[in-house]
Amino acid sequence: MIAPRYQPKQVLIDIDTQRDMLVANGAASVYNHRNILANIHRVMAAARHHHIPTISTAQVYDPDYHSPGYCLAGTRGLKKLKYTVRGNCLCYPTSDSTDLPLDLLDRYNQVVFCKRCEDPFEEPRLDRMLTGLKADEFYLIGATAEGSVKATAMGLLKRGKEVTVLTDVVGTRNRPAAIRAFREMKAKGAIFSSATELLGPSALKIIHACPCKRCSK
Ligand SMILES: [Zn+2]
Repeated sequence: MIAPRYQPKQVLIDIDTQRDMLVANGAASVYNHRNILANIHRVMAAARHHHIPTISTAQVYDPDYHSPGYCLAGTRGLKKLKYTVRGNCLCYPTSDSTDLPLDLLDRYNQVVFCKRCEDPFEEPRLDRMLTGLKADEFYLIGATAEGSVKATAMGLLKRGKEVTVLTDVVGTRNRPAAIRAFREMKAKGAIFSSATELLGPSALKIIHACPCKRCSK
């Protein structure tokens, strides 16, 4: 079990906020990426400001082995959005090891775990981190609602964690599937909130992460 010297009240779980998911020309871009990008920016800034530790996940696939066609090793698309990477960040590549220092969140503001799947609990080290981590509240953002976000929420809920999904900071590629996913998360006890509810309306107009016309207006 992970037993940090201090137990954070809140943890931000930043799920697969990678270029392929969130910029217009990404290989698996979500709908309404402009608003999602702006809200991710706001939530990451708030986490930094309030010293809320961040656990991030990132999909990475071998292009020659059962790849889904996005987040491929060696491509720009798998990179995390620049503003989702904090200073004092540690990154774990994919591995079957479960080695994990006990004091990670005492030493780092953010730990990024690469995974070869959508469900973080299928990745041994990340499973150990999330299962052992205690916090009063887990805030979830990222992509996609019907994929990694749902898998993360369901796994945390199953392990007795308090999960709040920030719905306007979660992207989807399949709206009917996302609606079903939100319904399932709610049925298992997830709470829904939003960046707007927590942080107020946004004045952020231009998001430099994406070069498309919509994002530069
Ligand atoms: Zn854009």
